[in-house]
Amino acid sequence: MDFELSEQHQLLRASVREFCEREVRPHAKAWDEAERFPHELVPKLAELGLLGIRIPEEYGGAAMDTLSYAICVEECARVDGSLALTVASHNGLGTSHILSFGNDEQKRKYLPKAARGEWLAAWALTEPGSGSDSAGMQTTAVRDGDSWVIDGTKMFITQGSVGGFCVVLARTNKQVPPQRGITAFVVDRGTPGFTASKHLEKYGCRSSDTVELTFDGVRVPDSHRIGAVDQGFYDTMKILDRGRISIGAMALGLGRGALAAAVAYAKDRRAFGKAIAEFQAIQWKLADAQTELDAAELLIYRAAWLCDLGRPYGPEAAMGKLFASEAATRACNEALQIHGGYGYTREFDVERHLRDVKLCEIGEGTSEVQRMVIAKNMLR
Ligand SMILES: Cc1cc2nc3c(=O)[nH]c(=O)nc-3n(C[C@H](O)[C@H](O)[C@H](O)COP(=O)(O)OP(=O)(O)OC[C@H]3O[C@@H](n4cnc5c(N)ncnc54)[C@H](O)[C@@H]3O)c2cc1C
Repeated sequence: MDFELSEQHQLLRASVREFCEREVRPHAKAWDEAERFPHELVPKLAELGLLGIRIPEEYGGAAMDTLSYAICVEECARVDGSLALTVASHNGLGTSHILSFGNDEQKRKYLPKAARGEWLAAWALTEPGSGSDSAGMQTTAVRDGDSWVIDGTKMFITQGSVGGFCVVLARTNKQVPPQRGITAFVVDRGTPGFTASKHLEKYGCRSSDTVELTFDGVRVPDSHRIGAVDQGFYDTMKILDRGRISIGAMALGLGRGALAAAVAYAKDRRAFGKAIAEFQAIQWKLADAQTELDAAELLIYRAAWLCDLGRPYGPEAAMGKLFASEAATRACNEALQIHGGYGYTREFDVERHLRDVKLCEIGEGTSEVQRMVIAKNMLR
């Protein structure tokens, strides 16, 4: 679909692809097996602009548009889902919350360090007892003079132990329905009472950092509040809209990566005296996957394009994420099937892509939640 992209977008895709092939592909399998976050990659990501994709130049960012953001995440995912998740969540959640709703002082403090990779961003909404029903959170922030005291536990937080700061959502008013009584705060690493209490072992995206976070009497000044008191949930919904574009792009990249491997393997592997690519059963799998991934690309790029035009794009982002994540999971599954028994071993990347892509049907709203968002808009 590159023929539709501007020269600038095509150049961006080529440079991120070249970087990932050179710096990531040789190591992604080992990072995954060791469940190790690749700290050594962070300065290189920053140099390429991948840690400040949408951050304006005045704060040291690359000032790119949302379509560029989708392309960057897609190209990372082609090679490594964990890296794509790191780039998507750093840019699209924690950093984005400060960029979209922070004040000047907060932007000056956090955004340059985020863009340089000195501080990775975490974003803490989900809790042990509330995920899809995110407003049902139990974490509280209670005002005490000129500061706030935060107590609670957050679950599945990306960059939770390697991040330099964390944007956390907490209940600040229990007298109103939950959606109307939640506020965002930024908490710096090392703040007393703020700890990464548990590293979570995962099925996929294993070299992305996912932890449980504990807030035990964490005191932050009011200057660490992001946005208006009790408005945090509405801001959060806007953050998730854009975030969904990147999770859709992550799925697309994983699907494209697995499919490219399947095409190469099918041309090489022989059975019954010919390359398996010559069997119609294999060709149909390839054709279906390519068609679905191209359709996913159109949906995701449409949402990014609407976002860049300043037009409403929430349901379109949900459609892109829903379709791309389910299509890419099918594509990765068929790509593994085409690899036969070898696909089921750790020798080929395709099993890692299949494990990684499943996250895209869960993170930043499950497929069921995306269908709720789409239908709600239709029935409004
Ligand atoms: C690797 C990883 C990284 C993550 N990173 C972050 C992060 O950085 N920050 C963060 O805040 N969160 C993060 N999450 C959390 C993620 O967003 C949640 O896991 C997700 O929103 C689902 O919530 P849950 O796990 O509590 O599932 P639940 O909400 O308990 O859902 C369980 C099942 O019930 C279904 N369900 C729930 N409600 C309905 C309904 N009304 N109708 C139909 N079906 C329903 C769901 O679709 C799902 O299938 C991450 C998760 C993972 C796995």
